[in-house]
Parts: sequence; C-alpha cells; structure tokens
Amino acid sequence: MLNVPSQSFPAPRSQQRVASGGRSKVPLKQGRSLMDWIRLTKSGKDLTGLKGRLIEVTEEELKKHNKKDDCWICIRGFVYNVSPYMEYHPGGEDELMRAAGSDGTELFDQVHRWVNYESMLKECLVGRMAIKPAVLKDYREEEKKVLNGMLPKSQVTDTLAKEGPSYPSYDWFQTDSLVTIAIYTKQKDINLDSIIVDHQNDSFRAETIIKDCLYLIHIGLSHEVQEDFSVRVVESVGKIEIVLQKKENTSWDFLGHPLKNHNSLIPRKDTGTEIVKPYTPVSGSLLSEFKEPVLPNNKYIYFLIKIYPTGLFTPELDRLQIGDFVSVSSPEGNFKISKFQELEDLFLLAAGTGFTPMVKILNYALTDIPSLRKVKLMFFNKTEDDIIWRSQLEKLAFKDKRLDVEFVLSAPISEWNGKQGHISPALLSEFLKRNLDKSKVLVCICGPVPFTEQGVRLLHDLNFSKNEIHSFTA
Ligand code: NAD
Repeated sequence: MLNVPSQSFPAPRSQQRVASGGRSKVPLKQGRSLMDWIRLTKSGKDLTGLKGRLIEVTEEELKKHNKKDDCWICIRGFVYNVSPYMEYHPGGEDELMRAAGSDGTELFDQVHRWVNYESMLKECLVGRMAIKPAVLKDYREEEKKVLNGMLPKSQVTDTLAKEGPSYPSYDWFQTDSLVTIAIYTKQKDINLDSIIVDHQNDSFRAETIIKDCLYLIHIGLSHEVQEDFSVRVVESVGKIEIVLQKKENTSWDFLGHPLKNHNSLIPRKDTGTEIVKPYTPVSGSLLSEFKEPVLPNNKYIYFLIKIYPTGLFTPELDRLQIGDFVSVSSPEGNFKISKFQELEDLFLLAAGTGFTPMVKILNYALTDIPSLRKVKLMFFNKTEDDIIWRSQLEKLAFKDKRLDVEFVLSAPISEWNGKQGHISPALLSEFLKRNLDKSKVLVCICGPVPFTEQGVRLLHDLNFSKNEIHSFTA
C-alpha cells in the first residue's frame, strides 16, 4: 500500500487520511503515524467508551466533553470522541482542542475540508446531534428540490453556471433491494480512476472530476445501506452508476437529505491531503539479465504505475520528485503460495495494469515450481502501446518454452493481426486447454472489475472449480 501526499480526494473506500492545507504540522511521537492510527482503529479497541453504542447527543451534553482526555467534537451533525486521536492529529492536539465540546464543522472546513473524517474517525463516532423534527422536514423539502434540479442557490458553488449545458446532474432509482445513483457528467473521458465513492453509515458521497473542478454529491441517505457497493462507468456517454444495496427491502420515498456542498462543483485545491491506495509490487524485471544489481537489505520495491492524466491520484504520483516521501504499509492480500504445490498448468488472464500481480507469479512459477509443465498468459489491452513489458514477455517466452504469451487488443489499429476483442467464451475455451486431461491447474485473473467478474463467470461455465481460480481484486 502506497501512501502519497496529494491534492486530491482519497481513493474509493480507502481508510485514510489527515492532511495539512496551508497550516502547520507538528511532529508526531513515534508510533503515531497515519498507519498506526489505522491499525488502532482496526484493533477492535473501544475508542468511544460506549462499547459500540451510538447515542443522540444534545448541545448541553456535547459542551461537557471539552477536555483532552474527554473531547467530543461535532462535524456535520455527527459527534466524535477525538481523545484517542489527539496524538495522531498531524495538526497537533491544540488545534483539535479548538473545537472541543462544540461544533467544529466550520473550523474543519477552513483547514482541511477534503479530509475524509467519516472514514478516519469511524471508530470514534459517538452518535448524532439531536435534531429537531422541523429540520428533518426541511431536509425532505430540499431533497425534492434537488431531484428537480433546483437546489437553493446558496448551496451551490458558482464555478460553472449551474444551468449550463455542461453542468453535471444526477438521478436515482430503486428496485426492492438496490438503489442506483446515476451521475450524468456530460463529459466523455471519465474512467473509474477519476471517481471516488465513500459511504459511512448513512452518509454517502461521490465525486468526480469535471474540468478543473470536483463534482460532489453528498447525501445523508434516508435508509441504511450495506457496506458493499459497485460503480459502473458508461464512458461513451459519461454516465456513472453507483449501485448501493439496501439493508432492508423497503421502498424509499426519497433518497436522503443534502449535506454540505451537495450537487455542486468545487475548485480542486492543493490541500496536501494524504491518500492511501493499494498497489501490487512487481520485480525489477522479468528477465534475469536485466535485473538491477541486488543491493543489501532489499533496498528497492518496484511498482508499475499507470498514470491516468484525468485521474485524481496517479497525476500526483507522477509529480513526485526525488527526495519526496511516500510511506508504504506492510503487505496485504490473500494469495497463498501453497496454491502452486504440484501445479502443472498455470493460466494467467491479465487486463491492463492487472498484469502487475502476474509479474511475481511468472518469476516464481518459472523458477520454483518443479512440477510445472505449461504457463500461458493471455494479456488484454486496448492498443499495442498499452502492452506493458511486451518485449520482455516475448523474450521470456522465447527463452523458456514452457511459457506462451498471447496479446488480445480491444481497440487495435487495422494492421494488427493478432487476437482482438474482449474476454469471451470463444477466446477462453481455446486458450484454456490443459496440458493433460487431469493436470493440476490454476487460473489467475486480474484487471478492471467488469473484466475480472466476467472472466470468473466464464471460468465457472467452463467447469473450473473455485479452488482452481484466483481472482485479484483491488
Ligand atoms: P484498461 O482500461 O486499459 O483496459 C484493459 C483491458 O481490459 C481492455 O482492453 C479490455 O480487454 C479489458 N476491459 C476493460 N474494461 C472492460 C469491461 N468493462 N469488460 C470487459 N473487459 C474490459 O485497463 P487499465 O486502465 O489498465 O485498468 C486496469 C485495472 O486493473 C484497474 O481497474 C486496476 O485497479 C486493476 N488492478 C487490480 C490489481 C489488483 O487487484 N491486485 C492490480 C493491478 C490493477
């Protein structure tokens, strides 16, 4: 996991991030880094002192919790016990204490509006501020206005004319079990990397880049949804669909109430936010003669990173200079080397940067599995230029007769005489021929989510068992 200072918002569903934005940072004690905080929040420790119970907090109650060792802060209607977080706050304890026992929303927005506090402080959530019924009614009225595209002007950042033809919009619809929020970005170069979706409890936010702005949807959902959600992009029309799963199969009268900056365009500012994103380390090379000299203490980690020019995260990585810092967590993942035991046939299905987990698998398989008879890689890309390490792969296949490599292009030029198209039953059934009828086989698959999902379905149709398939998911 790579953790890089960025001006952008965090990656979908990542646990992140504190930052500075034109404000001073204080040196943190050892063992008080962002990663340490994430570890603490995942340790199961009761960080609120309420044993997981959520309560409704009155203003009087909030005011009572105004000391360092008993400090509650309200942000956008939610109350957090920030005492456990004090020593981890990059801005220092005093800065946090400025909002002790009060509503810190304004202060928070002035300093680091883009920090995903909902995620950072999830385990510190005490509950909601008690809301008067009249306010709830207003929210519903506002929601109706939002759905009619008429959010009160005061809540809209006037970066682009709201009524202009290129102003994004959204809509929602539901089935018994699902709620789909469709965002019409009105621009065509949207890809998954430029969308961030985050939801905690009933707070839902999605944002995407529109020119120099972020388009933000930020809603307090009217009903509870499950943690899992999916995001689809229809690139040709610039539509994003976020599919949430209802906790209960009831019909929703309205989607929810708008939260701050809902349905608005906000200039992308340099807020210095820290963001966290998983990457699969690769080897320095596929070919031993290209390998860098091995330095003592394994000093290097290699990553293959594709820069998406319109993305939120990777352009920041691209701007890093020698001497800049990134922090790297310990490894995560569930791939077990025991899957290779007595393996005879290994099939690798990779799409785009989904090739990265295959690098170490190839290195390992060709050197450390004595039983291995055949490794076949089918590598899906849009164009020839997108094929990562093509010449190394071709050289390796030439050198080691156990390896076959096939490239499949989804958007080739007319001169391309190799395989074309997307992952399909026809391509797979021809490719996945075992060396022997009953050979021990493993198929690894990695790429964009729809590619991987479709691939796994096809593999099941072709009678590969669960144990014979490993899919990598980001
Ligand atoms: P890309 O958009 O360039 O697409 C590469 C190929 O994937 C296409 O040529 C096509 O054959 C296939 N593809 C794309 N969209 C598809 C769809 N909707 N249905 C079927 N096939 C489709 O790919 P990229 O930009 O390099 O993205 C690679 C993806 O792999 C990223 O989403 C990344 O997060 C993921 N990834 C995951 C891991 C991991 O889980 N460990 C590691 C690396 C990359």
